[in-house]
Order: sequence, then structure tokens, then C-alpha cells
Amino acid sequence: MDNFRLSFEFFPTKTEEGTKKLYNTRDKLAELNPDFFSVTYGAGGSTRNNTIDIVNGLNQKGISTAPHLSCVGESRDNIKELLNHYAQNDVDRIVALRGDLPSGMATSSGELKYANELVELIKKEHGDRFHLEVAAYPEMHPQANNYEDDLLNFKRKVDAGADSAITQYFFNIDSYLYFVDRCLDMGIETPIVPGIMPITNYTKLARFSDACGAEIPRWIRKQLEAYGDDNESIMKFGEEVMTLMCEDLVENGVPGLHFYTLNQADPCLNIWKNLNLW
Ligand code: FAD
Repeated sequence: MDNFRLSFEFFPTKTEEGTKKLYNTRDKLAELNPDFFSVTYGAGGSTRNNTIDIVNGLNQKGISTAPHLSCVGESRDNIKELLNHYAQNDVDRIVALRGDLPSGMATSSGELKYANELVELIKKEHGDRFHLEVAAYPEMHPQANNYEDDLLNFKRKVDAGADSAITQYFFNIDSYLYFVDRCLDMGIETPIVPGIMPITNYTKLARFSDACGAEIPRWIRKQLEAYGDDNESIMKFGEEVMTLMCEDLVENGVPGLHFYTLNQADPCLNIWKNLNLW
């Protein structure tokens, strides 16, 4: 387990209270000594300043924190300015993405259309200064023409210089294992770390999953639906299911786990403790 990688993702907060809660969450998760934290970015720059502030604040507390950076709706100059800021502020890792603009705004706006172009730009401007993470989709990106094209598009990001990848969350382990096998067949040896979404709220999970193309298996969906407003049972069942899934992933030799925390510590901590890896 020496090279096993643990990371936690936050979203940037807008209020003082939210930020305080985020720092509490950070402190609880820091006890697990993760390899890094990451902070999402609102495509088109909607959270630009909040993302910067939180990345700088978290970075100063000792655990490396990676900003997410999306290219859609941005000019090259804006992106370069942001990269220079991060380079000057001890950031050593970036999650490089295309991003999704809010509905109504054309996805084609901006000077870079796809994440592979962003990876190319970062490499051109900063060489190996940053460890570059990109996104991977074991169940296929929802806008991809087909599975094979999506795989080739993932490979473009790796060929452009991505160092590792974090997957969209999924509940079907086979989809992840198949994706990794197909990547290996294509000569992609870059670590592909599964993204883990703790189950805490069925309504939100169902909405997110529809939008990002993550399938909730019937047996999980039906069970969660049956709990209705009984949040305690949802949390208990969610923890059980996600612990089993992570155990299975670890047994299958995954290079690490990346948790989508939604700024909550306890669901991630509980799963991690159940795994009893150390
Ligand atoms: P890309 O890799 O560019 O792929 C997008 C689509 O275009 C795919 O269908 C792909 O098959 C196709 N494609 C890719 N390259 C080409 C090409 N050269 N030619 C033709 N077609 C191509 N979103 C945010 O807004 N902010 C965040 O902070 C954020 N963080 C995320 C973190 C993780 C770990 C993940 C998995 C997703 C995150 N997202 C975030 C969501 C992500 O931005 C969306 O899923 C977005 O729709 C795709 O981004 P991408 O970087 O995967 O895009």
C-alpha cells in the first residue's frame, strides 16, 4: 500500500459560515494525512476568486491543495494569468478540465474547446512544474459520441502530458475495471484513481447522477427510494454500500481513492475507517 494515494475534493464556499465549515472539514480529514486536497472551479470563471482564496488558504495549512481549472468559456490569457498565480503560490498540482458552462451558455465559447488543449497549454507554459490530473469516465462522458471515441479522447489528454486521472464517480465496479483494462490495452499506464461519492442524500445524488451520466444500480436506487425522508437509514446504507465498493476496489489494486466530500468530513471518514487500511 506504499504508493496508495488518498485525496479529498471540496467545492469553494461563498459565505463566511460555509468557509468556516470547510476549514473544519479540512481539519478532520487532514488527520488521515491525505496526499492532497482539491478545490473545484466554476466553469467560465464563476468561482475564480473563491477557488483561488480557498486553495491559497488550504495550501498554507500544510497539505498540498490542487485547484481545478476548466478551460471552457475562458481566454488563453485568463488561463495563463491563473497558472502564473498558482506557480507563484506554491501550487504543485492542477486538475485540468474542460468544464461545463451553465445551461444557456455555448459550450464552444472560449479559446480552448477540450481538456487536452488545456493540458497542452499548461505543459507549454510551465513544463513539468505542475502534476496534472485529468478526468476519466468509466461509464462514458455523457456527451461522447461513443465509448471508443471517449477512450481515444481520454488518451489525447494522457498523450498531452497528464500525469494521472481521477474518475467520475460510479457505482458499477466492472465499468471501472473494464475502462482501466482498455486503457492498458492502448498503452496508457497513467494511474486512474476512482472518484468516490459517499451516499448521503438520495434526491441530490439522483439529480447529479442524471446530469453526469453515473448509473445508480437498481438495487441501490430502490433501497434509497424506500427510505424516503429517513436520512439516518440513508446514511447507514450509503456507508455500508460505499465501504463494500471501496473494499472491492482496493482488493482489485486501485492506485488510490479520491473522495467527493461535498464539504462533509464524516461520511468520508467513516468509509475510510471501515476500510481499516492502516
Ligand atoms: P474533455 O476531456 O474535454 O471531454 C469532454 C467531451 O468531449 C467528452 O465527451 C470527450 O469524449 C469529448 N472530447 C474530448 N476531447 C476531444 C477532442 N479533442 N475532440 C473531440 N471530442 C473531444 N467541472 C467543472 O466545471 N469544475 C470542476 O471543478 C470540475 N471538476 C471535476 C473533477 C473530476 C474528477 C471530474 C471527473 C469532473 C469534473 N468536472 C468539473 C466536470 C467536467 O468538467 C465535465 O464532466 C465536463 O463535461 C468534461 O470535462 P473533461 O475535462 O472531462 O472534458
